[in-house]
Order: sequence, then structure tokens, then C-alpha cells
Amino acid sequence: MLHGASPATKGQPGVTQAALFGLCPACEARTLWAAPAMLAPSCRACGQDFAGAQPKGRSLLLVVLPVTVLLVLAALKLDEAFRPPLWAQALGWGVVVPLVMIGALRLAKAAALMRALRRSRTR
Ligand SMILES: [Zn+2]
Repeated sequence: MLHGASPATKGQPGVTQAALFGLCPACEARTLWAAPAMLAPSCRACGQDFAGAQPKGRSLLLVVLPVTVLLVLAALKLDEAFRPPLWAQALGWGVVVPLVMIGALRLAKAAALMRALRRSRTR
């Protein structure tokens, strides 16, 4: 099958599109996110339920922990290589860390939602 398309996934936006633009997997309206990294309870356009697919508890540690380790290693490497002043590092990382975390959480949550919807459609 081309690009993993199946009747259950046909017409759905990809995980990256859903994560970046907040596209509903059912109707492609921009209704996926209620907050920067929080799924809306349901689609305001078509009523598709998102709350059931919201990852809960410690499952997001599998995303947050490796990203945190990578960010710390990147900060150490940057400091070692360029020795930027402390105020520049505080300013730079103050912007980069939230953006990277929100991006990683959006990708993980969009992937979990797509997987849950695919599973419920194939049953
Ligand atoms: Zn929708």
C-alpha cells in the first residue's frame, strides 16, 4: 500500500500536520488544541471525541525525559563550544525549551490520538 494509506486512515491529516496546525483527524478543522500542548475535549466542528485519547499519567515521561536530556546536553555543548554570556543563555533557552517541549508534546499527543482513532475504526 502506498504511504501506509488504508481505508481507516484515508483522508486523515498526517501526525505532523495534526500536531503543527491542530487539524482534526476527522474533518481537518483547526480544532485539535485547547492550549499549546493540550488536546481539546472534542472537535468543535464535527464533535469527534479527543478526550479519550488524551495521554494520561506517566506515559508522557517517555517523551519529556529524553527531550529534557537532549536539551541539557545541547546546553552543555553550546556552553563548552561558544561560552555565551549567561544572560544570552537564559534568554535563548527561555525561548527554545518551551518551544521544543510544546512541539514534542504536540507530536506525541497527535500520534496517540491518531493511533487511538485508527484502532477504534478498524474494530
Ligand atoms: Zn472535526
